[in-house]
Amino acid sequence: MVSMIYDCVKKIIKPTILAAKSYHIADASGFVKLDAMENPYVWPEKIKDEWSRCLLQADLNRYPDAKSYELRRELTQAFNFSENTSMILGNGSDELIQIILMALNKNNNVVMVPEPSFVMYRLLSSMMELEFVGVPLNKDFSLDLSAMLESIEKKKPAVIFIAWPNNPTGNSFLEESLIEIINATTGLVVIDEAYHSFAQKSMMSYLHKYPNVLLMRTLSKLGLAGLRLGMLFGASEWISELDKLRLPYNIGTLNQISASFIIKNIGLLEQQAACIRHDREVLFNNLSEVVGVETWRSEANFILFRVPNPGADKVYKELIKKNILIKNLQGSHPLLENCLRVTVGTPEENKLFLSRLRNIVIAS
Ligand code: PMP
Repeated sequence: MVSMIYDCVKKIIKPTILAAKSYHIADASGFVKLDAMENPYVWPEKIKDEWSRCLLQADLNRYPDAKSYELRRELTQAFNFSENTSMILGNGSDELIQIILMALNKNNNVVMVPEPSFVMYRLLSSMMELEFVGVPLNKDFSLDLSAMLESIEKKKPAVIFIAWPNNPTGNSFLEESLIEIINATTGLVVIDEAYHSFAQKSMMSYLHKYPNVLLMRTLSKLGLAGLRLGMLFGASEWISELDKLRLPYNIGTLNQISASFIIKNIGLLEQQAACIRHDREVLFNNLSEVVGVETWRSEANFILFRVPNPGADKVYKELIKKNILIKNLQGSHPLLENCLRVTVGTPEENKLFLSRLRNIVIAS
C-alpha cells in the first residue's frame, strides 16, 4: 500500500520537489533560543490584557478584510510611509518573496543574489525551477561590485534580491554600490530591509527615484515573529500585478487586529529594539575577546562569528548539550567555513551563551 502511494506520488509530483529537502527548523523547546533573530522580550501583562480584550471583538464567522485596508493605513501612519507608495501585506515577508518569484516564473528568467544571503531566495527559486545565480561576496562579506555588474551584464536577471543589512553576515552593502546595481539592471531590484529596526537606515526614498526598485519590510524582527506580517512597497504598476498572486485572505482577522493593536503601542517595540542594539555592541565586544574567535560588525540583531578548533559543527553540538541553540552555518556557503550566527538575546542570555562558548573553546 505504502509503495503504491509512493509510486503515485513520484508520478505526479515535480522531480524538483521530490528531490528537495523540507526547510529544517530546529526544535527549540527547553533551549536558550538564539537561532532565529527573534526579539527576546515578551509584552508586559497590562499590554497582554488590553490585547486580549481587542481580540474579543473579532467575529471569526466572517472572512477577514481581504485588502487589510485599515491595517495598511495604520502601518503607513505608524511608520511614516509615503501615502503615494503602494503596499501589499504578506503572511511574513517569506510569502512576499514567493509572490514575486511566482510572478516572474517564466522561461529564461534569472534570479540573482549576492551570497551568502537569506536562504529563502535560493530555496524558493529552485522550487519554481527558476535559474538562480549566486554571486559570491568578497571575503570580508562586502559586495563584489565588479562581479555583480559582470553577472548582470551576462545574465540579465529578472530580479536581484539584496538583503540590507544582509543575513547571515549582518553588514549593509555600500549604498553607492546598490545604486550602481539598480542603474545597471533592466530587471527588478528588491531591497529587503528585514533588519531595518536595528540598522536604522532605509532606501525607501529610492522608490520614487528608481521605478525598478521594490522594498520589503517585516514586523518579525521588531518583535512580532509569531504574527507573520511582511510589507512590500513599490510603484502601483508592480504592486497591482503582484497583488493578483496574493491569496485573498492571506492576513487573518486575528493577525489584523493584533497588528493594529500593537502598532498603537509601537513605542514599546522600539524601546526593545534600542535595548537590542545596545546589547549587540556589548555582545560583539565580549565575543571578539574570546580567544581565536573572529567576529564581524553587525547592523542587525545577530552576530556572525567564526570559531577556531574544534570547529563550528563541534561548537554547535556542544552548545546544544548546554541548552543553547544558535545557528550553525558550516557547509551552507564556502565563505562561511566554521561560522555560526548568534541572535542578540537578553543580557542574561547573552552572558550565558558567552560563558558556555568560552568553556567549549578553552577546553579544546
Ligand atoms: N528577509 C530576510 C533577510 C530574513 O533574514 C528573513 C528571516 N530570517 C526574512 C526576510 C523573512 O522574514 P519573515 O519572518 O517576515 O518571513
